[in-house]
Amino acid sequence: MEGGGHTILWPLEGSFKLYKQRGEPCRIRIDENGLTVTSDGSEGRTEVIKASDMVGCVCMKAPPEEIKSHSAYFTIFSYPLNMKKKRKRLALCFQVDHNDSFEENYGIACKWKAAVYHAVRKYGITEPQIDHSKKLLILINPNSGPGKARQVFRRQVAGVLGEGEVKYEVLVTERANHAHEIVRSLDLTTYSGIVILSGDGLLYEVYNGLLQRSDWEEAIQFPVGIIPGGSGNGLARSIAHWLSEPYHANPVLVSTLNIVYGHLSPMDLVLFETADRKRILSFLSVGFGIISDIDIESERLRIIGESRFAVWAVARVANLRKYHARISFKRVTPSHSTTTSRVKPVLERSQTVQEERRESHEHILKSRSVELQGDEVCESFLEQSCSVNMVDAQELPVRNSLIRNEAGQQSEESQSNGTDRSGFTIPPLDQPVPDDWETMEDNFVMVYTCYHSHISTDVFLAPDARPDDGCMWMISLGSTTPKSTIARLLLGIDGSHLNLPGVEIIQVSALRIEPLCAKGCLTVDGEVVPWAPMQCEVLAKRGRIMTR
Ligand code: ADP
Ligand code: MG
Repeated sequence: MEGGGHTILWPLEGSFKLYKQRGEPCRIRIDENGLTVTSDGSEGRTEVIKASDMVGCVCMKAPPEEIKSHSAYFTIFSYPLNMKKKRKRLALCFQVDHNDSFEENYGIACKWKAAVYHAVRKYGITEPQIDHSKKLLILINPNSGPGKARQVFRRQVAGVLGEGEVKYEVLVTERANHAHEIVRSLDLTTYSGIVILSGDGLLYEVYNGLLQRSDWEEAIQFPVGIIPGGSGNGLARSIAHWLSEPYHANPVLVSTLNIVYGHLSPMDLVLFETADRKRILSFLSVGFGIISDIDIESERLRIIGESRFAVWAVARVANLRKYHARISFKRVTPSHSTTTSRVKPVLERSQTVQEERRESHEHILKSRSVELQGDEVCESFLEQSCSVNMVDAQELPVRNSLIRNEAGQQSEESQSNGTDRSGFTIPPLDQPVPDDWETMEDNFVMVYTCYHSHISTDVFLAPDARPDDGCMWMISLGSTTPKSTIARLLLGIDGSHLNLPGVEIIQVSALRIEPLCAKGCLTVDGEVVPWAPMQCEVLAKRGRIMTR
């Protein structure tokens, strides 16, 4: 097998000393299970690091002060779960000194490196993955959440990407809509995917930029990844939940690992038609009433981060508003045929949530990382690879202009001339809904529809939703819903709300919302859209999201 210029030996076995450790060498093996390390000492301990917990490997030369300067070294970086279900960085540095010449020892180290990348990126992968030979475009919103996204990148993300030898280019957005403008005319062939480090709002911009392109049907399938940096991080939280990944201990790290592996999982998108015949592409939610109101009105509390939702919810339950509206929808028969092995039963998952809550109060791990380059021999790198080394001081390479692909840009005209219905299978908004749809009209406290399990870190609205289940999950609270139910629902949206009387969740594949009162707040993916009729339908599995 060939990989990275080196022939891959598979599985690979050998005997090496751990750097600066006395005693007998360890026996190590890389195969489909990952890395097995057996110490040859009297205890003969064996430890296995799963392939899916390793991120990369670097080969190195001995520091000049070392006596055995003919030695080469390879360091394997991994992030296994510890006993407390936290991912911790583990850098294992092995010494290769079997031969008298450095070149021969270095050649052996390189074979191990090739085997590590084979295990991480190729072995046993049935899903497609990003093209690791290309670079990612990483978009950072410096104003999302508490305004620390740039620091989060430097301190927690860059090092892990470096260990995994992920190529990337960073662009820090300068204003709202900047990301939208960029992706509308971006030459997608240059990149392996687009990653956003922000809240869900920046991904909304990205998807709607892709929708504006003349090649939108292909463009919306472009790989996207998300690292939470905002005050609303519903998608990042939902992906972790779907992968049964402990999230609260270090949301940034577990999301960054999805980017390093870059497996591509299908994700449903939802296409909207608005009253002024505009199209919107959505990946998270649509709704009005109390949850939308809280989301938007608590914006002023952005600085306190994700707890803004809970704080505002208390105020809003005390002062309920109702909205007269007509809701029409196409119900889908619940089906479990697409259930993937990644999904745990609800009970087991809600236990995980509780466990995670406890962990969230503990300190967040800071990933200890160094940036390392390709096949280069890094002189005197050993000390660094085994010690804490933040990449804080490193300047981000920032670009503000990207190559334009004029062919990919849709004319403004076709978007605004009121005729663009490409992609829809449902009848236009000004025609009646089909006969197989259902309709309800009420003074609603809320109608909220989400396509993932979580709409924010702590709001576990649709416990059984999966990213690719082909449906939206609609929760409606009508005029007769008791206030106590609403309070219990909002103050503890942890999955238990589904057992409350008067709370129903319906799976739908298409939806029309017609406001029948003067004022209200409609949101799509947490962004405000005009309070006017709109409708949408699911584009099943049309997006592709980076996962492990
Ligand atoms: P949060 O979860 O904190 O709301 P988001 O990523 O959702 O963070 O972003 C909030 C809003 O900020 C989005 O509407 C986005 O369009 C906008 N935005 C993006 N980049 C910038 C920027 N550089 N300055 C100001 N606003 C921006
Ligand atoms: Mg769904």
